[in-house]
Amino acid sequence: MKKIQMVDLQSQYAKIKDVVDPSIQEVMESAAFINGPKVHQFQKNLEEYLGAKHVIPCANGTDALQIAMMGLGLKPGDEVITADFTFAATVEVIALLQLTPVLVDVDPVSFNIDVDAIEKAITPNTKAIVPVHLFGLAANMDEILDLAKKHNLYVIEDNAQGIGANYTRKDGSKIKTGVIGDVASTSFFPSKNLGCYGDGGAIFTNDDDLAHTIRGIVNHGMYKRYHHDVVGVNSRLDSIQAAVLDAKLPHLDAYNDTRRNTARKYNEAFKNHPKITIPSGRTECEGICSTCDCHVFHQYTLKLKDVDRDALVAHLNENNIPCGVYYPIPLHNQKAYVDERYNEADFTVTNELVKTVISLPMHTELDDEQINFISNTVLNFINSNS
Ligand SMILES: *Cc1c(COP(=O)(O)O)cnc(C)c1O
Repeated sequence: MKKIQMVDLQSQYAKIKDVVDPSIQEVMESAAFINGPKVHQFQKNLEEYLGAKHVIPCANGTDALQIAMMGLGLKPGDEVITADFTFAATVEVIALLQLTPVLVDVDPVSFNIDVDAIEKAITPNTKAIVPVHLFGLAANMDEILDLAKKHNLYVIEDNAQGIGANYTRKDGSKIKTGVIGDVASTSFFPSKNLGCYGDGGAIFTNDDDLAHTIRGIVNHGMYKRYHHDVVGVNSRLDSIQAAVLDAKLPHLDAYNDTRRNTARKYNEAFKNHPKITIPSGRTECEGICSTCDCHVFHQYTLKLKDVDRDALVAHLNENNIPCGVYYPIPLHNQKAYVDERYNEADFTVTNELVKTVISLPMHTELDDEQINFISNTVLNFINSNS
């Protein structure tokens, strides 16, 4: 059996080498390393794929979030509501900009931000909500947008884990995650569903004025060369990364479909087990799916009941099966983000998830032998330790 990896970028590269290598070669020969034609080409292709009016590439997904918040003109003291159960980047940039992070609990089924918890946390100082499409499953965007409209708040989607996912609106229309709110961020970190071979990120918006503001912010606040109208940053997607991404973008739907197929096989192995809850997202679409609102499985995450999770992690590792715990500590308990206003009783779901979730290997290169070995090793441990 091939060695099992959490993410297998080597095997993936081997299959697309013949398109990636010439794309990188072009950049090297043109020497247009910064803001070269590849960056523009990738930007246009991603706009078309997403149905987004504007894609603004930048250096990474964390910058993308920060720049989105700067673009909206959020000011120190403004409160920004986001999920307690996510990667720290989201809360980090809120704090860096001296905005006030307001962490709220997540839904026990989807693991995405809990809309009732958002509503409870809204104050006159609230300016924005940042839903994260966690693990590749779209957050409850219609309800979040309704709430935002009612309270006049911006919605910033953190789409770092959700690229390529679809969302079905209340009226039945389909839309890609990342073009639903006012603005969105994504990451092209190598292990993300659309990953480059270094760091990369992008901001998406359908708002022309906001796009113009953001294009200046990513380039030192310049709208005219050497005229600095606002305080900006230096955050660029380099041309070599754009070349990789432009070669990989046509494969994104197939990659997400392969992830869903793997998830379906895992689900088949674990469903109806009294101690295992399988992910809530849909997996049933057949063939390459570019329209249904299925999960894109950035992570495949199980919730365990009456199982020693950490002993299972150790057991998998002993069997050369890597796995992950995303995320082991609620953000509201992280030293950098503790705040006396938080009340443990408001975080019952996150507090339980951090102790009971486990993410299994999930990538585009897993074969049936590996999937069966992983599933059987998990099941044998759980069944023999009860
Ligand atoms: C990966 C990730 C980010 C940050 O992206 P980087 O490119 O690593 O800066 C932000 N939010 C979420 C939810 C992520 O998973």
